[in-house]
Amino acid sequence: MSIAIIGAGMAGAACASRLVRQGQQVTVFDKGRSAGGRMSSKRTVQGYLDLGAQYFTARDAAFMAQCQHWLRAGNIAQWQGRLARLDNGIVVASPDESVRFVGAPSMQAPVAALLHAVSLHTGCQVDQLAFDGKRWQLFSAGVSLGQFNHLVLAIPQQQAEQLLQYAISLNPELNQLFATPALLPCWAVNVTLAHSPWPYDGIFGETGHPLSWLARQGSKPGRCQGEHWLLHFSAAFSQQYLEADSSEIAKLALQALQQLTGEPLSAKVSHCHRWRYAQQNPAFPHYGMVYRPELALGLAGDWLNGGRVENAWLSGVQLARELQR
Ligand SMILES: Cc1cc2nc3c(=O)[nH]c(=O)nc-3n(C[C@H](O)[C@H](O)[C@H](O)COP(=O)(O)OP(=O)(O)OC[C@H]3O[C@@H](n4cnc5c(N)ncnc54)[C@H](O)[C@@H]3O)c2cc1C
Repeated sequence: MSIAIIGAGMAGAACASRLVRQGQQVTVFDKGRSAGGRMSSKRTVQGYLDLGAQYFTARDAAFMAQCQHWLRAGNIAQWQGRLARLDNGIVVASPDESVRFVGAPSMQAPVAALLHAVSLHTGCQVDQLAFDGKRWQLFSAGVSLGQFNHLVLAIPQQQAEQLLQYAISLNPELNQLFATPALLPCWAVNVTLAHSPWPYDGIFGETGHPLSWLARQGSKPGRCQGEHWLLHFSAAFSQQYLEADSSEIAKLALQALQQLTGEPLSAKVSHCHRWRYAQQNPAFPHYGMVYRPELALGLAGDWLNGGRVENAWLSGVQLARELQR
């Protein structure tokens, strides 16, 4: 059985890795320059910067076992950041017992490890699909990428909807998957400071505050040393400023930071990144994954399973199990 997987993030990689281990013929396509998706760190001369996923946790026993495997192989490391949270706009210590992991040396490392034995085509955006009732044909810029017995979409909801218009016309039930936005936007900004304003490595935002997360990059293994702070704006703020340009977002980030520290800052913005589809809308239902045998079609991804890295992995593994039945 030949299977095409679109998307080499954690969900697509987990699905591909399981299927290849079962002897299936799998080809993965991703439009990015490398695998990882939203688990991606930007390489700079001073080290990596995590602009997307910041860390991940493991609650499920099977995912925990996978994390232990990655830990032994050096693909991930434990992040023992000193944590705080905002309380009425004030930074207060907030230590907890959670075990947090990060990719080593960059966030995409565990995804790359899953894909080491998989046929992967990066820099390849799939923009058209055709289904003849038996097989799927994939196209990129008018060029056929081949025909496959099964198709897996492991891409964010809004991008899947664009590709699946034809499948939806064959099976209007699929429409329900796209009725509510599953993923909300996030502006990520990296700020370089002269000195650390706080004795912490990660700060959780609070409801109503424009910032949802701040992290000292250098506290993670392999990341930029020095005072590089990564700021995530909240989903509400990011939605409001979705089409703003980076220079406006940079100004707003410095203002928000200054307001938090309460003192004039010697600070410079080095990167702004707009994630249109970032983290889970809590109102979106959990499907786990979706498999439609009559269409030889599967969908996996964090958005179908409650968001987060762990749930992306679980969704991909669950779909691989369905495809092997
Ligand atoms: C700002 C931010 C902060 C986050 N923080 C955390 C956190 O702290 N902890 C946590 O657990 N999770 C966090 N997450 C969520 C986490 O990153 C995701 O849950 C997880 O990485 C999703 O994996 P995925 O495989 O489902 O999707 P993705 O990682 O989005 O992978 C989809 C892939 O599909 C590719 N693709 C899309 N369309 C096409 C196409 N047409 N053709 C070819 N390729 C295509 C993309 O390039 C991408 O590589 C965060 C995400 C963001 C953006």
